[in-house]
Amino acid sequence: MLIVLNHSASAKDVENIKKIIVKMGLKPVAIPGAERTAIGVIGNQGWVDDTALKGNKAIMEIIHVTKPYKLVSRDFHPADTVVTLGGKVKVGGRSPFLMIAGPCAVESRGQLMKTAKFLKKLGVPVLRGGAYKPRTSPHSFQGLREGGLGLLDEVRKETGLLVVTEIVSPEHVEIVADNVDILQIGARNMQNFDLLTEVGKANKPVILKRGLSATVEEWLGSAEYILVNGNPDVVLCERGIRTFETATRNTADLAIIPFVKKLTHLPVIFDPSHATGKRDLVSPTALASVVVGSHGAMIEVHPDPEHALSDGPQSLHFRELERLVARLKALEAYTKKNL
Ligand code: PEP
Ligand code: MN
Repeated sequence: MLIVLNHSASAKDVENIKKIIVKMGLKPVAIPGAERTAIGVIGNQGWVDDTALKGNKAIMEIIHVTKPYKLVSRDFHPADTVVTLGGKVKVGGRSPFLMIAGPCAVESRGQLMKTAKFLKKLGVPVLRGGAYKPRTSPHSFQGLREGGLGLLDEVRKETGLLVVTEIVSPEHVEIVADNVDILQIGARNMQNFDLLTEVGKANKPVILKRGLSATVEEWLGSAEYILVNGNPDVVLCERGIRTFETATRNTADLAIIPFVKKLTHLPVIFDPSHATGKRDLVSPTALASVVVGSHGAMIEVHPDPEHALSDGPQSLHFRELERLVARLKALEAYTKKNL
């Protein structure tokens, strides 16, 4: 439920209404706006009886929100949220286009350090790399697991880059959060509600990938789990969805970026690597994501993609990423000025 107050409502009115909501056994969330204040109500599991609020002179309108998400919606928070990563890099709103790059999986110290040094030179602030790899086949490389986390921690300390890695189990939240700056929820775990609940209690920003076949409502419902458990720092990531088309690994749903930005205040980024699965489609779709309003891109790159232990065919060579970063910067400058 969302309670929109009159222009004339005073701070005392707001406090009074909040008290009534608490008495109803629910939780008020004040939403100050440029025009007028609103109060969001959470904690209900169904229709809220608003009798105690009806007739209150400070209230202009009571809106019953029927969507499965509230805190992530623009109704509750009209302005864009800007998430700060590692205390220094911002994403969302009018922040610079965020670039995240790195190998699909952490394979060795040498591979990770070589990539990190290259990214640092390029000005890419965030290094990605999977330590726990959820693979389709149990015969495929499963990641270095705790060993991979240790390498990510070493590399971030040595280079000053921020690091992001996927978390696959609620039991891992503490150890992963100790070793990296940003937690990633992968497509396969988008609806692992226990995992979402645990990262909601963590003190690190979360990149939430869209599920393999998730609708927008399901995706935002998952983000809501994280916010409702206390973590407001969620970045959504479109990474392609499964359709009848098999020419590409997934179908890059670029239209969903402006669409979802209308519904939510959270930053939205794009992963062209998993969205396409093909190296030569990564750059064109990454560039397109700038034009449709993505707040950033997460791109797989490898010092030797032909011998990568996972996702080699979609990983860029260093020189290709260098070219892409230059083009992304040029396009970002152009769109900010002209579009
Ligand atoms: C990844 O980013 O390494 C990954 C496994 O992606 P997704 O969860 O989108 O498939
Ligand atoms: Mn991958």
